[in-house]
Amino acid sequence: MDEATLRTAHAGLLSSEDIGNQVRVAGWVATRRDHGGVLFVDLRDASGIVQVVINPEEQPDLDDVTHALRDEFCISVLGSVRARPEGTINPDLATGEIEIGASEITVLSPADPLPFQIDDRADVDEMRRLEFRYLDLRRPRMAANLLARSRALQAMRSTLADDGFLEVETPTLVKSTPEGARDFLVPSRLRRGSFYALPQSPQLFKQLLMVGGVERYYQIARCYRDEDFRSDRQVEFTQLDLEGAFWGQDQVLAALEPVIAAVVKALRGLDLETPFPRMSHADALARYGTDKPDIRFGMELVELSEVFSATEFKAFSGAVEAGGLIAGINGGGLGLSRAGLDGLVERAQALGAKGLVWMVVEDDGSLRSPVAKFLSDAELGGIKERLGAAVGDTLLIVADSPPTTRAVLGGLRIDLGQPEGHDELQFLWVTDFPVFEVTGEGRLVAAHHPFTAPVDVAEMENHPEDAISRAYDLVLNGTELGSGSERIHDPETQARVFRVLGISDTEAKERFGWFMRGLRYGTPPHAGFAVGIDRIIAILQNEPNIREVIPFPKTQTGLDPLTGTPGPVDDAQLAELGIDLRPEVKAALEEEAGGFETE
Ligand code: ASP
Repeated sequence: MDEATLRTAHAGLLSSEDIGNQVRVAGWVATRRDHGGVLFVDLRDASGIVQVVINPEEQPDLDDVTHALRDEFCISVLGSVRARPEGTINPDLATGEIEIGASEITVLSPADPLPFQIDDRADVDEMRRLEFRYLDLRRPRMAANLLARSRALQAMRSTLADDGFLEVETPTLVKSTPEGARDFLVPSRLRRGSFYALPQSPQLFKQLLMVGGVERYYQIARCYRDEDFRSDRQVEFTQLDLEGAFWGQDQVLAALEPVIAAVVKALRGLDLETPFPRMSHADALARYGTDKPDIRFGMELVELSEVFSATEFKAFSGAVEAGGLIAGINGGGLGLSRAGLDGLVERAQALGAKGLVWMVVEDDGSLRSPVAKFLSDAELGGIKERLGAAVGDTLLIVADSPPTTRAVLGGLRIDLGQPEGHDELQFLWVTDFPVFEVTGEGRLVAAHHPFTAPVDVAEMENHPEDAISRAYDLVLNGTELGSGSERIHDPETQARVFRVLGISDTEAKERFGWFMRGLRYGTPPHAGFAVGIDRIIAILQNEPNIREVIPFPKTQTGLDPLTGTPGPVDDAQLAELGIDLRPEVKAALEEEAGGFETE
């Protein structure tokens, strides 16, 4: 069988110019409609849809096959292209002016009854869609997402190749790469008791490529992170990973902007304005309450602590004395009822605040609020002035620890102001991230990863909590698209960072000795970045989650409903690897499998 015997034309590309031609098309039965014995089939292939008309009076020998046709059968049709009769032209369809009068139909493959309708309008349970992903991918929306993904990758590759980047693959069976998540482990059969890890990113390999004299590296890299269930994350995902030797932050951002612009051009047909705006991490927190601000709208946080420096209102004075932060946002004319305002208080509490003060500007300019009576006229005036309050506006104020005040107001700002969807695109670089974060248990962890260069190494040792790094993020409409940094390129600084992180020299040598040794051989200063490919495509396609743009995704709990993975393996396979399941794990598996067989 070859294509010429199955088709001579692509369904979606036929037009009135083909009228009178004999063509053969092949594809799937998207819909069938019987109009008084005449069958209308929408035949779909990758290029689109064309209407096929089977008239039993004209073609009595097609009767049997016509009766057998069901949705999603794969068929080949011979027929002649003709103009649709007056009044039946479909302006919504690219091929809506024509149809094919069938003279021969061959069923290439029948299809079982479908688990769901192949139709963008059908609301299908996601587990079911993933279980039958190959059918789900036939839906126009999914086909469009696959096409967009392919175009985005193409745009990335060609822009970077033109800019002198080398595409280099790095291994997937590696020694652990610390990006802050758990590793997936792969047991070795040849060295029983030893394990590979799957890479959380190619971080250390790309740095060693810089040592290896590759001055500009990129890769469309698969990364694996064994994280607890988090919405819109995948245990395996794809990054555009890149690195440049002799580079600092400015060169990385300048190299990335045309790549992002090319992707946006390919998917949206838009010319992005570059360079993208930049904002320091500290400013982002102060103005938007988050390190990934959505700058499509204002409603910025305004610091109010000064207004209340001598306040008698206990909730505010207490917060100021405890080193807290009082800040507010002007939510604009929300027009909320009392219940609506109470809802905002509850939301603020869910975001971590002890409380939320709301104020509504009345027609006479006075402030209506449950706490107004505790505040002086000067304080009320100060609030109005700082928040630029106009009649009808709702003002929201939080007094708490600085991180809580920012997180709560930042969250409310998103709830109240964030536009739906992603018609408008606002990219933003956030720079000057801290070197470390303090965990809930008071432990220091790398805010980006431990290979990121601190701005001042001595300062990092003396005041680790306040130390700034040369790390930067790319943000689009309030979503973090990726991160990068200037790297440490001398082993001594690297060892000092490890020490501050509580990683002893012995442990560092054991875990990263292979990498640190590489740094001893003339390492050029270098910097890089990684962009989450799934995420940028999802946003540009206006999809609500990244699973919609991943051909074969897993669920949020890391399950693949198509293949039923992860699943148990044979005892024999485990024995080869020198692995025994713990008795309690074995018992749980047996119970899950419906008990064990007794003979
Ligand atoms: N490896 C980092 C990450 O996966 C990106 C980078 O620093 O280049 O986030």
